Amino acid sequence: MARRSPQGSVVEEVVLDRDDPFCSECGRRMQVRNHRRRRIYSLRGPLLLECKLMQCPHAACPNHRRTFSPEQELTLAMPRWLIGWDVFCWLGHRRFARHWSVPQLRAELLDSYAIVLSEDAIEDYLQRYQCMLAARQQDFGLLKKEYATTRQVVLSIDGLQPEKGHETLYVVRELGRERVWFAKPLLSSATDEIRPLIVQAKDWAERLGCRVRLWMSDKQEAFVTTIARVCPGVPHRYCSNHFLRDLAKPVLELDSHAKVQMRSKIRGLRAIEREVLQARAAAPAGQDKDQERSARTAVTAANGMDVVLDYCAAVRGIINDSQGGPLRPPGLRMSEALGEVRKSLRRNLRLKKGATRKRCWTD
Ligand SMILES: [Zn+2]
Repeated sequence: MARRSPQGSVVEEVVLDRDDPFCSECGRRMQVRNHRRRRIYSLRGPLLLECKLMQCPHAACPNHRRTFSPEQELTLAMPRWLIGWDVFCWLGHRRFARHWSVPQLRAELLDSYAIVLSEDAIEDYLQRYQCMLAARQQDFGLLKKEYATTRQVVLSIDGLQPEKGHETLYVVRELGRERVWFAKPLLSSATDEIRPLIVQAKDWAERLGCRVRLWMSDKQEAFVTTIARVCPGVPHRYCSNHFLRDLAKPVLELDSHAKVQMRSKIRGLRAIEREVLQARAAAPAGQDKDQERSARTAVTAANGMDVVLDYCAAVRGIINDSQGGPLRPPGLRMSEALGEVRKSLRRNLRLKKGATRKRCWTD
């Protein structure tokens, strides 16, 4: 079920009173007129909030018909939310700082906290989390406080494309405080589209009372022309990461070619695994005769089979790993790792020379 409040009888009841029971208009003591009961999920278990709703008793007072909720209610959960702030922050942090998927979040909430939320509901809350985070990030009051002692800023702009053919997210960052200032999805990198971002960044810097000391980017045509026009005289430097990546392009191409060749040499992992698994499944059948001896050989054979499977898993991990940047190309890492596997296999073969004829992988 998508959005059902916590069910069951084990619910902690929390009674909430107003901190300030006096009417803000006439100063009279307000009276409890009604109760609102709502259930929410929290990380410490389901809560039943019993909120006392108050009204001013004086008929002529403007507050007479208004209802006042306990202030504390909002510190536990937003109106109409099913989850408390603690669950909300838990979700946002796991999703955006640790990159958990929504099904993973859902399963963990259920397993560890017995919180039943649908994927739709979780996605809704995550969207609200993003909105709040973006609003906080762009809150000018907070920004002003952070840049109170700063006199100059270093700005950078870069386009991130999560998927080919989709919008590109242009992100403007300030490198001195390592802070994302703002981001905007754009369909093209045309000068007209880029210009408002550069203007906004310059405007923010001026409002913060800071001088733009430097711009950094990958020096796309649109960035170069727009920055030169909007911020004349401000130096525009190549982003060192992009610079290095461009410089390393020919090396990375060769590296990628080498990776393909290495992968094409290592074939048949699946066949080896299948053979081992079949042999293992068939093994207990031959244990009738000479029990003690066969048990001993079965143990060593089983161990040997596990070792073969472990080698296969390790090699698969190596050939599927594409991590590494220009300074540590993935092909080079792959070659080193495969070299280690080869050495390890040789060591084993030397030790068991003559004892085994099973070779899971030849050089
Ligand atoms: Zn009143």
